[in-house]
Amino acid sequence: MSISITTPLYYVNDKPHLGSTYSTLAADAYARYLRLKGNDIVFVTGVDEHGQKIQRTAISKGISPSEHCNKISSQYVDLWDNWNISNDKFVRTTSKKHRRIVEEFFLRVKEKGDVRLGNQQGWYCVGCEEYKEEVGSDKEPICPIHLKKLEWRDEENLFFCLSKYQKEIEKLISNDSFIQPISRRNEIKSFVSNGLRDFSISRIDVDWGIDVPGYNGHTFYVWFDALLGYLSALIPENQDLGLDDLINLGWPADVHIIGKDILRFHAIYWPAMLMSAGLEIPKKVFGHGFLTREGQKMGKTLGNILDPQLLLEDYGEDAIRWYLLSDIKFGHDGDFQIKRFKELVNSNLANTIGNLLNRTSSMARKWFDNKVPKYSIKDTNNSLKELSLITIDEVILFYDDLYLRECSQAILKLSSSANLYLNETAPWQLVKDDANKELVAFYLYNVLETCRIIALLINPLVPNLSINILKQLHTEHHINDWSENLKWGKLLMGADLPNPHPIIQKIE
Ligand SMILES: [Zn+2]
Repeated sequence: MSISITTPLYYVNDKPHLGSTYSTLAADAYARYLRLKGNDIVFVTGVDEHGQKIQRTAISKGISPSEHCNKISSQYVDLWDNWNISNDKFVRTTSKKHRRIVEEFFLRVKEKGDVRLGNQQGWYCVGCEEYKEEVGSDKEPICPIHLKKLEWRDEENLFFCLSKYQKEIEKLISNDSFIQPISRRNEIKSFVSNGLRDFSISRIDVDWGIDVPGYNGHTFYVWFDALLGYLSALIPENQDLGLDDLINLGWPADVHIIGKDILRFHAIYWPAMLMSAGLEIPKKVFGHGFLTREGQKMGKTLGNILDPQLLLEDYGEDAIRWYLLSDIKFGHDGDFQIKRFKELVNSNLANTIGNLLNRTSSMARKWFDNKVPKYSIKDTNNSLKELSLITIDEVILFYDDLYLRECSQAILKLSSSANLYLNETAPWQLVKDDANKELVAFYLYNVLETCRIIALLINPLVPNLSINILKQLHTEHHINDWSENLKWGKLLMGADLPNPHPIIQKIE
């Protein structure tokens, strides 16, 4: 049975930025890990294309909303392709199948008695596509996020009866594993404890959206529409499948990986909508933090936005993946610092891991006829083997919980220990005496085998670098049977060792 994991469906208001790249890289690492472990997963990403903001952006550029969406959506497709993102699905909320799912979903929820007409009054931010409730007595309130004037709205909308689900949502969020990291749960708890209010799911003055069946002039509120993209993503193109088929296609999601700003929609509104429609709710919602650059918020006005495509061209996939996933505790806010980035990539990847492999491989080639050394002594008291096995267990537990930084640190610690092991056993001294040949073979084998384990463990984080290491050990096929090959001793003694070359270029 397959399970799905998702990135947010990115709003196509503007071209992709580093924040969406960060979400996607983290989800990609997790998806790769689950696949290596043998899980049948569907990795979903895509774009959210409706709403007034898109309509206005397109008008301001003098193009139609659909032209605008096509342009930005294809930028996302290209970017993920360039980054080697392993997504199985890319959903667009302007697709036919999505419209069909939205209509079916709405009719179910309505049938259940969870839709009513009502009047919606309040201050609205088009940037957030959200009514702002905490504006106080200000006569011209502004959005705290967009710093733009809010618009007063007073219109007849359709409402989803969220208030009916108070008890169910309270129960859901009291489950420790549902909202991750757990530190984010309090804000949701306090929001829910104030009493859930019905929320409007239609708009009457927005053309760029999906028409609500049976309600002339109403289009669906962009959030109601967008969340359903997680479902329509799973429906194959041109197949007449519906909500009842989702169970066989990867629903419920194992995890929604999202930014912390959209946690409320995912942890409250979305589960209630699913309950109403009689569908299962996702197992986990993981809200990660925001990225700043050199301590400053990134933005157009400051002109300090990091372009993910340029970063990729300048530094390569491995370097950026490693830095973002290893230096920022996943779930917390992070700061992109160029100096630290270069230092970490050079020291962790080029030195600690790269040099370990290259110097060991060079010695083995030199003294063992370009082959993996053979030994026949008993390997009781093999400290490096013991440490490797402990690290494998640790790293798997970390991956399971999306502790991506902790994964990278455990792998790095193993690499440092292997370097130390090499320095302490000093095979370059021992080799001077022929009587030590077995021992030299034993030590070098242990380090090379540790490098192989490191390459397998690091694969979800830096897949390209991982394959580079495995190629140098002639074991790239080991990735196909990951769990089995994580056993110690799979590096074949006497196998050819190719000429070593750097697994990553140092950054100047
Ligand atoms: Zn706003």
